[in-house]
Order: sequence, then structure tokens, then C-alpha cells
Amino acid sequence: MRCLVTGVAGFIGSHLADRLLADGHDVVGVDAFTTYYSVAIKRRNLETLLTKPAFRFVEADLSAADLAPLVRGMDWIFHLAGQPGVRDSWGASFQEYVQHNIQATQRLLEATREQTPQRLVYASSSSVYGDAPLPMDESVRLQPLSPYGVTKLAGEQLMRAYWKGYGVPTVAMRFFTVYGPRQRPDMAFNKFIRAIAAGEPISLYGDGSQTRDFTYVEDIVEACVRAATTTQTEALGAALNIGGGSRVSIRETLEYLGEIIGRPVQIEYMQRQRGDAAHTIAATELVERVLEGWRPQTAWREGLQRQVEAQTGAAGRTRMFNVRRWPRDSAPREPHAGGKRLAIYGHDTFGLGHLRRNLTIAQALTQAIPDLSVLLITGSPSAGDFPMPERVDYVKLPAVVKVADERYESRTLDVTPAEMAQLRAALIREAVAGFAPDVLLVDHAPLGMKGEMLPALREARQAGARVALGLRDIVDEPERVRMNWRSQRVYSALEEYYDAILVYGAQSIVDVTRAYEFPPELTGRTHYCGYLQRPKPARRAEDVRAEFCPPDDRLVLVTAGGGGDGYPLLHAYLTGMSALAATAEGQGITSVIVTGPFMASDEIAELARLAQRTPNAHLMEFTGNLPALMQAADLVVSMGGYNTLCELISVGAPALVAPRAEPRQEQLLRARAFARLGLISLLEPDELKPQTVTARVRALLADTDLASQVRLAREDFAAQGAMNGIEGMVKHIARLLAESARPALPLVSSL
Ligand code: NAD
Repeated sequence: MRCLVTGVAGFIGSHLADRLLADGHDVVGVDAFTTYYSVAIKRRNLETLLTKPAFRFVEADLSAADLAPLVRGMDWIFHLAGQPGVRDSWGASFQEYVQHNIQATQRLLEATREQTPQRLVYASSSSVYGDAPLPMDESVRLQPLSPYGVTKLAGEQLMRAYWKGYGVPTVAMRFFTVYGPRQRPDMAFNKFIRAIAAGEPISLYGDGSQTRDFTYVEDIVEACVRAATTTQTEALGAALNIGGGSRVSIRETLEYLGEIIGRPVQIEYMQRQRGDAAHTIAATELVERVLEGWRPQTAWREGLQRQVEAQTGAAGRTRMFNVRRWPRDSAPREPHAGGKRLAIYGHDTFGLGHLRRNLTIAQALTQAIPDLSVLLITGSPSAGDFPMPERVDYVKLPAVVKVADERYESRTLDVTPAEMAQLRAALIREAVAGFAPDVLLVDHAPLGMKGEMLPALREARQAGARVALGLRDIVDEPERVRMNWRSQRVYSALEEYYDAILVYGAQSIVDVTRAYEFPPELTGRTHYCGYLQRPKPARRAEDVRAEFCPPDDRLVLVTAGGGGDGYPLLHAYLTGMSALAATAEGQGITSVIVTGPFMASDEIAELARLAQRTPNAHLMEFTGNLPALMQAADLVVSMGGYNTLCELISVGAPALVAPRAEPRQEQLLRARAFARLGLISLLEPDELKPQTVTARVRALLADTDLASQVRLAREDFAAQGAMNGIEGMVKHIARLLAESARPALPLVSSL
């Protein structure tokens, strides 16, 4: 095809031209080298393109040049030239926006009346939506918040008018914040990366809780190409959202950038800017239909890593995407220096709970036992998102999802459940055989998911390893546990394979040996370690508070753990709080709501909508800093997961806990037991209603004795040794490591 790309020296235009040439098309690129940002950068964007024989460059201003010769004979025209930038579009510079976004577009369209191409694709913007309800749907009323958005909308309307009036086959594309290599220097990520790398402070408009639907530039380019080729007539004269890839808050992207660049992030908070939307989320149904299955392919962490590499040059480029996870300064390990080895298995089919617990355990053990190496064997799709402690590595099993009780299917692969079970069992066995651990610690499920641990358990025993089961305090309703364990022959497997059963909890909460009716042999092998306490957060509570709320506000943290089933709680909280917004009772409360990474995107979108209506509500999907937030909060509203409660009692935060009661009673039983000891306040499942939640929150915030009561209850609990789980667990694992009769070298021959 013969293609015209306008704005070819710009960020997106240069990528699009690269792609069209790579696909074998001929490209004419046009650009006026406007001075909105450095012309030297624009010339650099063109350097590689100019070496390609199928590329021709024309320097021309679309708002003035004769455009007939440019459009003549073109099959596809991509109109990306424009004057970008929301913040600069106020005041006298508006004239440039009119010239480059409206007049240039109208002139190009006029030229195509006579020489109609097969397709004209126009770069519009999510700015046309302003603060539209989320997710932003193509059919809503458009009310841009900035003059820039108004001019982009005018461009879109011109596209439609020329399609209707003259049959010019136009498609407008509403790009949602584009990022990637060559991003414009005035855009946020580009500025952040430069500042962090130079050790300079970042000026952040607003508090960083604003979220954007970031779209990686290659995904934008793919959408442009599909807009040129689509045969769906619905696309013509229409405007399509191009976004929906990765919705994240600015604050999270900053945390991540600091991590990958390896330097601290200093932030200077500035007033939120006029014209900036608080949140953007693209509705993607229309584009997926019209562009035949187009979907963004690049996750934000990966895309940002690529942008960092491109911007920071050679040093960045040599760094692989996941190197950040490993301690920077550690020397390579000596090959088998005689250190001990521990393998930890977690089936990790749902949420983050097991993985986080096992990482805490691995870290505590490697810190306490010099020369211990730990191999995690995990099915968690999130394993790669967590920093691995020193001397800890992981083997990732193909992920499964639970589709019904005892029924698991592959998350991604086209294999039968039976094939998946076989694959995972074989991988686990081989990992255990090859690593030859001194101790194998099995998390939670004594036989593994659907019995997948059995071959590995046999392998470990034959090789002389010690085997331990790690149980959180409560598995489920005792009767149900007993029934399942009997029918699955768990009791006999425990007797045959396990040397120790380590309970990460306190006998005063549940006596597992009695509740689950352990035979005497097993009772003798059962040890209560205590709850796995968390280290004190490094950040000071005052600093965290200052980041989120005015000095006199009360800070409420609302967390749903992994988020897979946290929607009802978050929804009830935000509905209640938004109803109070206009009243005196709704004032003076700042809410930080953390959805967790497993919440469905439509649920997050609904919560974002509610959060917008609630004064001082900050919604985020994930934070690496939950304990610090807990410590800073006047009240935590949470679910009743094991890790959350460990974090709560470690930090000593007053909390209103709303446990789930389905499909297992574990959270409910735990929360009731903790509430009986005064460690938390309980919200029973039938109280999970907006009005009740807000009434309880307000009552707890008004209770001036609450913090000291919680502190006393916690001190009593700690005095029973119930909060020393880390020490208890380390002691038992160290004993088992010392007892193991593993041969000195791994059994490589079995691989
Ligand atoms: P960019 O500024 O890097 O590229 C635009 C290019 O157009 C520049 O090289 C400029 O010199 C050229 N240009 C401007 N006016 C011209 C004229 N009258 N004649 C010829 N050339 C002219 O911007 P970008 O980020 O690559 O954006 C490309 C398009 O996408 C713009 O229309 C912008 O409004 C739109 N858009 C971008 C984003 C984003 O996140 N980058 C989001 C939404 C929409």
C-alpha cells in the first residue's frame, strides 16, 4: 500500500512509519517540525526511517501547504500531525491548537475530497471525554475539560462530516495516554524517568491517585493498521477507544519506576491541573468488535521497562526485564558449597495469600540460617511480581483456576484438567528430585492440588529429606475438614510422609489437633508456631498520612486483600460514603481503598465511579506498602484473610473486619475468634450493607478508647507467645534441616 503518515517525526508517527515499512508498504512521511518540543528530538526520531528506500520525507505544514500532491495516489492516510498537550492549550497558545488540530485537519480532508484514499485514520484523544463516567464509552455525551480536547473533538467531527458529506472513509481513534520508547518529553513517564535517573525531584500534579488507562505505543500502532484494513462498515465515520490496556495510578507507576531505575523517588506535590481528568478508563467493546479482536498486548510493567531502557541508554538496555527482582549487590553463589536446602510448595490457585505467606517464610529463614537456599514451587501467576529475597528462587507451575469444588482448569493453556494435573505433578517431582532439598515444606494442602504432591513426597522421602506441612491457623469448618480429609485419605498420608505439622497460629484460637481429630501419632508431630508477625514498616506513619490526607482528617484504609472477592465490601463502603458526601457526617474522612490485583476490571471501574463521587477517596489497585498504610490509618476496614489479620495485629491497627463466609468458613471463624479477644471489631456477613458499614466506621472513629483497647488486647495476645510465628517456624525448620539425611550431592541422574 502507499501510505501517508502526517506528524511522522513525532512520537507515535515515527513508530507507525516503522511498522508500515516493516510490513512492506511504501511510506511518505510529512512533518512541519513544530517547536512544541525540541526539533532535534524529532529529527532523531526520523534517523532510521530516512535510511529506508521505501520511505520518503516531506517537510510541510498541513495548515498552509498545497496538499493535493501529497494525498494523490495514497491508499491509506494516517493523520497524526497535531498540537498535543492538555496543559498548554489555555490562553494565547490556543491559536496554535486551532491551527494544527482544526485547520490542518480540515485542509487535509478537503484535499481528500478529490483524491479519496481507501482509508483515512485520525488520531483523536481520550481528552474528548473530560470527566465522563467510567468506563468511558463511545456513546456518552462528550464534554472535554480542556481547549486541547475541544480541538481534538472538532477534528473528529470534521472526519465524520467528510464521511457523511463526501464519502471519505474516515476512522477516528481516541488514544488513551500513550507511552513507550520516544515518548514526548513533555509527557509524564518521560519526565519521571529523567528525574529519577538524575536524582531530581518530580513535580506531581495532584496526589498521584489519579489513574490513567495507559496504552503501549505498539498497541496503538497495531490498532491504526487494523483501522486501515478493517472491513467493518461500522468503523467508518466512527470514533473508537484505543486503550484499556493497563489502568494504574500515577503513584504506582512511580513506585515501580523507582524500583527498576534503582534510585529513590522524590516527589513534590503540586496542585492538580485544570483540564486533567481524574481517571480514564476505556470501554473496549466497540473497538474489539470493529477492529476484529484488537486488544492491547503489553502490560504496563513490561512497557515501562522498555521505555526506561530506551531512555536511559546502554546501562538500561543491558538490564533484563526481571533483573530488578534480584538483589543488586549479591555475588554469584558458589556451586554447592554445602549449604542446606529447603523447597516450599504452594499450589496457589487463588489469590495472593499463600504466595505472600511463603515468601515471608522464605525470607525469614534465609535471614536466620546462613547458607540456606530456598526454592519455591508455585502455581501463582503473580510470582514474578514480587521481589525475591536473597538466596530464594522459584519454579513456576502452569497456573490453574478453580471452576468448581475440586475442579481445576488451566488458566491459559489448551489442555484437559487431567493433562494439566499430570504436567504439574511431573514438574513438581522433577523440581524436588533435582534440587534435592533437606526439607520439603508443603503449604496448606497435604496432598497438593488434587494429589499432585504425592510423587514428590515419595521422592523426597526416598532421598532422605524431612517433610513438614505448614498450616495456617484455620483450614475451614472442622466438620468439613474432617470429612474431606477422611475421604481423600489425608490422615494416612500425613502419617506416612510428614515429620511435622507446623501451625502458623495459636492453640487459643483453634486447637487443630482436636478440631480436626488428629490421631495421637499426628498430635505428637503438631507444633503451634504462633501467627507470622510482620516487620515494622520502614516508613513513618506521619509521612504516609501526609501523602494522603489533610492534617485534621481521619484516615480510613479499606483493603480487600488479593481482591478476587472483595468487591461487595468495597462497594458497600464506597456506596455508604458517597451517600454521606453532601452531609456534615461525610466530612473529615479520607479513604484509601486498595482493590487488590485480582479484582475484575468492571468491578474496579464501578468502584472508580463511586470513588469519584466520594470526597477524599483514593482508589488504587495495588500497593507494595500495605503495612505502612495500616500503621498510618485511624481505622482499617478489611476482609478476614490470614495475611491481613497477621498484618493488622503486627501493626496494632484498629480494624473493622468483614470476613467472607463462602465458600469456606475460615475467614468467619478466624474473625469471630479475634473479635472475642478484642483484637478487632467484627462486621458479620449479614451486616454488609452500605448504611451499616458507614455507621460502624463512624462509631469506631468516634470511639476515643479504641486504639488503647486494641493495644492492650494485642499485648495480652503477644504475652501468650501467639505472635512469634516467625521465630517458632524458624526453630522447627532449623531442627528438621539438622535432622535430614540428604545425600551430599543432588540426584542429577534422576533428571
Ligand atoms: P508529537 O508532538 O510527538 O507528534 C506530532 C507531530 O506532528 C510533531 O512532530 C509535529 O511537528 C507535527 N505537526 C504538528 N502540526 C503539524 C502541521 N500543521 N503540519 C505538519 N506536521 C505537524 O505527538 P504524539 O504524542 O506523537 O501524538 C500524535 C497524535 O496523537 C497527535 O495528534 C495527538 O493529539 C494524538 N494523541 C496523542 C496521545 C499521546 O498520549 N501521545 C494521546 C491522544 C492523542
